[in-house]
This record gives sequence, C-alpha cells and structure tokens, in this order.
Amino acid sequence: MHIFKKASDIKQFIRKLKAEGQSLGFVPTMGALHEGHLQLIRRAMSENEQVVVSIFVNPTQFDEASDFSHYPRSIEQDILLLESINCPILFLPSEEDIYPDEALRNRTFDFGYLEKTMEGAHRPGHFRGVAQVVSRLLEIIPATRLYLGQKDYQQVKIIHRLVHDILKLPLEIVVCPTAREVDGLAISSRNVRLSKEERQAATALYKTLDRARKESSRMTPEELKKMAVEMLLQVPEIREVEYFEIVNADTLSPVSSWGDSSQIIACLAVRMHEVRLIDNMFLKGIH
Ligand code: AMP
Repeated sequence: MHIFKKASDIKQFIRKLKAEGQSLGFVPTMGALHEGHLQLIRRAMSENEQVVVSIFVNPTQFDEASDFSHYPRSIEQDILLLESINCPILFLPSEEDIYPDEALRNRTFDFGYLEKTMEGAHRPGHFRGVAQVVSRLLEIIPATRLYLGQKDYQQVKIIHRLVHDILKLPLEIVVCPTAREVDGLAISSRNVRLSKEERQAATALYKTLDRARKESSRMTPEELKKMAVEMLLQVPEIREVEYFEIVNADTLSPVSSWGDSSQIIACLAVRMHEVRLIDNMFLKGIH
C-alpha cells in the first residue's frame, strides 16, 4: 500500500494516475476503522481502478473538546486492516496540510435548512467543519467517485449540496448502506467507548427504528414519533433522546403525513452516559 503523509506528494501521484485515465474512488474517514468503513472501501475498489482512503480526525467538526480528545485512534491497526484488503493508497495528512492557513480553517458555506435541523441543531458548527475538511480533501484528491455511508445520512445530504451545488465538482457520490452488528446496532468507531451494559442497551436504537418501519402503515408520523421516543426512554442507559425525527429524505423537513414525500426517513440521536449515538432508517422508499 502506498502511504502518503504530505498533500503535495499525493497530489503529484494522483496527477499521474489521472493523466493515464485511471478512475479514482475516494473514502474519507476518521480512522478507528471497522467493517462499516471496509464495506465502503471494498465497494470503491470494485468500481474504480484506484482508491484512496484518508484518515484524518478533523478537529473543526467536533463541537465538544472531550469528544475530540476521546475519539478512538488506532493507526497501526488501521494500516494492517487496509493492507489485509489490499487497499492501494492511504492518505494520512497532518493538520497543517489540511489547514495551511486560517482562511481554510474558517471557511463557511451556507446549507440552509439542511444544517439547521437534527445534528446541525444539536452539534453547532459540526457541518461547517465537515464541509471544511471535505472541500479541502477534494482539492487534494480530485476523485471520480466519493463513497459515503448512509449511517451519517444528514452528512450525505450536506456533502451532496457542497459537491454538486456549491463547489460544482464533476464527482459521483455513492452512498453505501449502514453496516450493522448481528444484533442490529450500527457499527461506529464510538461503540468501543460504551460500557457492557450500554452496548447491550444500544440495541434499542435499531429495534425502535425497525418497529417504527413496521408500524408506519398503522400510525401517523406524529403517533409513530411518540411511540419511538417512549420506547427509547424506557431504556435506563439512554439518558436523553436528543431527537427522533421523521423527515422528507430529500429536504429533511418533518413530514406530517405519509403522502408528504415519496422517500421518508427516520433519524435519531441519543445520549448514553458519555457517548452519543445516531442511527436512521428509511420508512418509505429506498435510497
Ligand atoms: P467516520 O470515520 O466515522 O467519519 O466515517 C467515515 C465514513 O464511513 C462516513 O462516510 C461514514 O458514514 C461511513 N460509515 C461509518 N460507519 C458506517 C457504517 N456502520 N456503515 C456504513 N458506513 C459507515
């Protein structure tokens, strides 16, 4: 595997690949790699001649300093995992390479309502940071296709807007389904921070979403939301339900009836003791 630590080096390498007409898949990550990441990388490898995986824990997207400092980091293990699936290229930039000046670190974009609801409302500045790092990474890595996970559905919508409407890049975005543990919990780098009891209790997220999907023909969105929040709050390890929203999958506006949109998705965030977990599931239509 080629490992690049400097933006100028990987840029030069990619310029050569592109001049040869090779297609390039790109999978940005924050490391602590797991099966969810590997599914994105395998898909990228099956659809492109070359694939770059980046690992960068982006400080500007963390709204809580303790979340940033406790974010799991396991670079040696990540390299072994990437080598085990024959990933061709890894980019491990430094903070100075991503944000060489204050202008790039402070860059802002307007995402309208997409950044005001759900994660945007509960994590001030989060999507601004996501957009800063993604726009910068795409300057360095002008990929043919960008691979993102449905696990972070609102992030997918934000990056879509960024890439196609704001930056107007000729880039295809490929959204991959959420990889789950056998009991349904969405795989996440943060899961390792759950206690044994919390890990067990966290299955309530998937169970609630699955129940919501099954009950959706029998209830209004409002009734369904009430049922889901009650189900989650019955679990003592869940300290807080930050939100459970049933929204138009395109605009992210809440729906009041099932006829409001052809694609409807339920998104949730809960807080355990120290860890915050998110998940989502389509209730109508598929992505
Ligand atoms: P992260 O390292 O958490 O920033 O995630 C990097 C990419 O992997 C993002 O596009 C995520 O949506 C995606 N991802 C993370 N967890 C999963 C999962 N369980 N299933 C599918 N994609 C995921």
